[in-house]
Amino acid sequence: MTATVNATHDPHLRSWVDSANSPGTDFPIQNLPLGVFRRAASGEPFRAGVAIGEQILDLRALHERGRLQPSVQALLEICCEPSLNHLMSMGQAASGALRAALSEVLREGSAAQAWLHESLVPQAQAEFALPATIGDYTDFYTSIHHASAVGKQFRPDNPLLPNYRWIPIAYHGRSSTIRVSEHDFHRPVGQRLAKGAAAPELGATQRLDFELEVGVFVGPGNAPGRAIPIKSAESHVFGLCLLNDWSARDIQGWEYQPLGPFLSKNFATTISPWIITLEALAPFRAPFSRPAEDPQPLSYLQDPAAAAHGALDIQVEVSLQTSRMRAQGANPQRLALSNFKYAYWTIAQLVAHHTINGCELRPGDLFGSGTMSGPSPTQAGSLVELTGGGQQLIAVGSSETRAFLEDGDRVVLRAWCEGAGRRRIGFGSAAATVLPVQTG
Ligand code: MN
Repeated sequence: MTATVNATHDPHLRSWVDSANSPGTDFPIQNLPLGVFRRAASGEPFRAGVAIGEQILDLRALHERGRLQPSVQALLEICCEPSLNHLMSMGQAASGALRAALSEVLREGSAAQAWLHESLVPQAQAEFALPATIGDYTDFYTSIHHASAVGKQFRPDNPLLPNYRWIPIAYHGRSSTIRVSEHDFHRPVGQRLAKGAAAPELGATQRLDFELEVGVFVGPGNAPGRAIPIKSAESHVFGLCLLNDWSARDIQGWEYQPLGPFLSKNFATTISPWIITLEALAPFRAPFSRPAEDPQPLSYLQDPAAAAHGALDIQVEVSLQTSRMRAQGANPQRLALSNFKYAYWTIAQLVAHHTINGCELRPGDLFGSGTMSGPSPTQAGSLVELTGGGQQLIAVGSSETRAFLEDGDRVVLRAWCEGAGRRRIGFGSAAATVLPVQTG
């Protein structure tokens, strides 16, 4: 079982970085998420930073100061690398020690303020890299509400396949096209079979969609051939981010049988720059259960600790801003608000299942949760659900409608955790804009 609530989560803690004390900030001192950044257009090397209010504490600059104890300096040296893989490989004791040290120096009243304030970089002046080199990417399908709703469209007579309640379903995705937030992408071209047509044709997707997902970064890997027992599965998890699994539904509908999604999903995936550690999420644990009438999972997927705190209460939101809305200065409009607690499988179950055959996970590998739809129609995390497969247009902005995404549409994912007696923390955002088909 992973970290419990400790002094770094104290809701009364304040930082000497003023913007971290604003009630609405995603990044109070209780959060301390890690990312990889540099000053925009500076040509500087990318290195790790921690978000604090509207600022980033530059961990390379902190390392150069050389003022913290040797064990922390050793961790900060690792944070000078251009990805977090090395830090991820060291496990939660290392990231926990780093978190404790950062919490101390950023705390209101810390003597470190005098020499540390020069190591802050405003987030507005930064550009981000992927936080890790992602060797492998696996996208799960953990919302039974999404699986049922989409299954109903593809197979009206047989929406939820019989394996769903026994196996955490997934497909192996592609890491080469995962981009950090604010990297736009071109509408993909592919094979589509028009309704009633005898043969497919090649063309730009006409059913481009988003998927509102949570990403899970793997920490320490497993030895070749050795399954990770469910009891220690969370010790192999570094932290969570936002993930948009952009999907071309027409390409998907034609290609997905019998081996699952291929080119309909591997053209672009967008993640948020900040990774929220499992430790930061400790105050937002929730009981996990599955309906009594459902089969109990096989023993390697049974986790007695899950009933008390196997789920995470994370609100997840998707918004859309069309190019017309942008021109009018209108903010993105919320399309759905859901919660990660609707996942049918816990993160520990995903890790245990992924390795039961001996499959090796490596530091920096990424899981997607699957589209995190909830039971209500307003909690649907994709357009294919929100529009009933494109049948019911939704109103956006002052005068537009959408069945699927159009060129110029910007999709923004956000997530946050809040609750009585706990300091609200957020994930920042994962956003990108759909560009026209690339020509020439
Ligand atoms: Mn997906």
